[in-house]
Amino acid sequence: MKSKVYIETFGCQMNVADTERAATGLRKAGYELTASAETADVVLFNTCSVRERAEQKVITRIGEVRNGTQRSGKQLKPLIGVMGCVAQLEGDSIFKNAPAVDLVIGTRATDRLPSLIERARKGESSVIDLGERQEGEFWDVSPAERRSPYVAFVPIIEGCNKFCSFCIVPYSRGREKSRSAVEIVAEVQGLRLLGYKEVHLIGQNVNSYRPQSRQGLERYSGATAFSRLLRAVADTGMERIKFTTSFPRDFHPDIVAALEEYPNLCDWIHLPVQSGSDRILKAMRRGHSADDYLRRVDAIRGSKRRLSLTSDIIVGFPGESENDFEDTMRLVRACEYDGLFIFKYSKRAGTPAAILEDAVLETDKTARFLELEELQSSLQNRIYNDYIGRTVSVLVERESTRSSEDMTGHSTCHKVVNFRSHQTKPGEIVDVLISQAKPYSLYGKLMSEGAN
Ligand code: SAM
Repeated sequence: MKSKVYIETFGCQMNVADTERAATGLRKAGYELTASAETADVVLFNTCSVRERAEQKVITRIGEVRNGTQRSGKQLKPLIGVMGCVAQLEGDSIFKNAPAVDLVIGTRATDRLPSLIERARKGESSVIDLGERQEGEFWDVSPAERRSPYVAFVPIIEGCNKFCSFCIVPYSRGREKSRSAVEIVAEVQGLRLLGYKEVHLIGQNVNSYRPQSRQGLERYSGATAFSRLLRAVADTGMERIKFTTSFPRDFHPDIVAALEEYPNLCDWIHLPVQSGSDRILKAMRRGHSADDYLRRVDAIRGSKRRLSLTSDIIVGFPGESENDFEDTMRLVRACEYDGLFIFKYSKRAGTPAAILEDAVLETDKTARFLELEELQSSLQNRIYNDYIGRTVSVLVERESTRSSEDMTGHSTCHKVVNFRSHQTKPGEIVDVLISQAKPYSLYGKLMSEGAN
């Protein structure tokens, strides 16, 4: 009987993509992937360390799995492995702090999982690999392991060179490394043939894409390698192409020009600003001012297409005063974001900001979080209401969880859209006339069955 592996994933799309890659390698090596920790011989946690809360969740889950197997009286305890960002950062201290853990697998050791598990199964204790990706290891994800048969994540760049003072990512994921354009385009062509309708080109900073060679981009113009790649990927004919996350300093207006040339490049840009105060942006080492950012927003808003814009903001960075926070509120009012992820600053050991004094009181962080959330929800309410009477193109993903009579999916502008339908199937692209706006979703009427 095949050994069963269960993988639980925390954090960003990069982790989801890494889990898909790990599952592909494990199945090739003869393992079966299972959907429950209870029946697994090996339980892997693919972890996130961006904020303290995410790290704590994993420790709790390790305890639950260990205690769960004790309670169910299983003879053989599963092997427990920690992979991803926490593994890379904490290394062998995990074995001390969580004695139930048998394996620690760093962010670039995904492809070596089968041999690492094998070593642990043969009785080796505290198996650890924090090494780099090796020659010959390449991005390989089988359709069976993708979490959706219609929407696929395609990583184009790993790691981060930006070293924002608050952020752990450069330490957990290493330096930026871009995949070759030839490989990316071939993957998108393959996904299209398999019936995928949408790809998300992903990376911590997707627009910092800098491949070693220009091979595969020769036929495409563009001010940056990324905007050339966008044109090359659009040329595959893939129905819908989204990309996330964009880094402001590397956001060239030519990205907007590419979106105007190719309708299959979707009308959504995620461009995290983090703060509206120049003083705080400097302390965060973002390499851009509020005005630099607003110039990018002007280019986006000046587009012939109506582009949806979303962002991330951290409140309560060390030293953030009421005035700094007011600057953030002003910037949010000016940007009129379609969506905003707000985070309370979380101190990450090893980052430059961790040694900054002048921490903001937890009560002040919470108050600023709520004030910004209230502002965003009123702006968002207006933006969502503006969609009433307009028709949007929706990739149908599944039945709505709220009502079995409704289907749900995302628009090209990356909004959740629900609509009543008895015939529409997941994977179809349909036009929906919006009749109602809710805080985080739109509701409408099916106008046409679209491309299948
Ligand atoms: N470029 C990455 C992306 O979005 O894919 C950023 C990684 S991180 C998952 C997403 C967001 O987490 C960042 O844009 C930032 O707002 C937030 N974040 C990162 N470090 C943080 C910290 N120390 N405290 C609070 N929020 C943080």
